[in-house]
Amino acid sequence: MSFKYLSKDSPDLILKQIKVKVDNYFLDNDYTKNGNGNLALKFIAQLTLVIVSAYWVFHANSFLTLCLAYLSVGFSMLLLGINFGHDGAHGCLTGNKRFDGTLFQIIYAMQGLGGYMWQIRHNSAHHIFPNVYDRDSDLEMSPLILLNPKQKSKPIHKYQHIYAPFLYLIVTLFWIFAEDFIILIRKDSANSRIKKIPTIEWIKIVAIKLIYIFNFIVLPTLIADFSLFQVVGAFLIMHFIVSFFLTFTFFISHHIQEIRYVRANEETNIIENSWLSHQINTTIDFHPTSYIAHFLFGGFNTHIAHHIFPEICHIHYPTLTQIVKKTLEENNVGHWYKSFTFWEGMRSHILHLKQTAHEILENQEHEELSSIEIRN
Ligand SMILES: [Zn+2]
Repeated sequence: MSFKYLSKDSPDLILKQIKVKVDNYFLDNDYTKNGNGNLALKFIAQLTLVIVSAYWVFHANSFLTLCLAYLSVGFSMLLLGINFGHDGAHGCLTGNKRFDGTLFQIIYAMQGLGGYMWQIRHNSAHHIFPNVYDRDSDLEMSPLILLNPKQKSKPIHKYQHIYAPFLYLIVTLFWIFAEDFIILIRKDSANSRIKKIPTIEWIKIVAIKLIYIFNFIVLPTLIADFSLFQVVGAFLIMHFIVSFFLTFTFFISHHIQEIRYVRANEETNIIENSWLSHQINTTIDFHPTSYIAHFLFGGFNTHIAHHIFPEICHIHYPTLTQIVKKTLEENNVGHWYKSFTFWEGMRSHILHLKQTAHEILENQEHEELSSIEIRN
């Protein structure tokens, strides 16, 4: 079943204008659409942080410094994942898809994650159909969290804005030790079903988990001067904090109050919007002009540019964001573009959870009442 966007004159023209300006930017400056010297420096800086943090773990002299060292490892690996793993999955780091794909897999494996299904789901479901019910794999995070007002809800969801921040503490642990296996077993990419998972992917995923446990639990217990109990404690504290931060980073780009959710027409499979308007109106930026945010979040803080140009390396997104914003304003649709601070995004996400559950439950109660009236 294929889903389509409507072709609309005005947004199609705006998209054309944006693309011409972006192409000119690359031509005028003689840049490639992949990484550059700045990206290489960023990679060296973030990789050095990982190496120094790992060295610190093995030389920590108290439980407090062990926890700080673990946190440092967790966050520096997260930076590599957000900045280089994500771009690698899109094949836009060097332009050599094989090399970029391998680097993405290595960066994910370092964090205990399998990249095979994630890459398929991210590129063929999330990017094509952001926030579209039944199509976007990112909407299926957990049955306990309802992101989309068009999903079915249970009474517990009334409290999701209260328990969500606690649930977000264990998202990375769940992802590593359960979700990775669940999506391989289900062979489900949200947008389509994978016919057969290659055996090598099963071998790889088991090996990744074993190596991860060896690196993060066994090795520090053997080498550093701490008990297994202390090492596991530091490991869990790292996950709780990194997971909380990562989950909000993912969610505030698409799931806040000001964002749209869409359900394709059930008969025609058509999404009643143009591709450009849909991508922009389902995505937000945060701190889009901040150098620090650009260093930390890569293409996530300038996520609108990423959704329009996923094949271009994130190092160019601050310029592309300005081009997109200016072109929208020139066409009197500047209000499509939305940007927030990280804090505003977190707040709006929690309010979105509250409002979503409330709306769905109210609609369901209304539907149940009308069906009782009809039967009577
Ligand atoms: Zn992406």
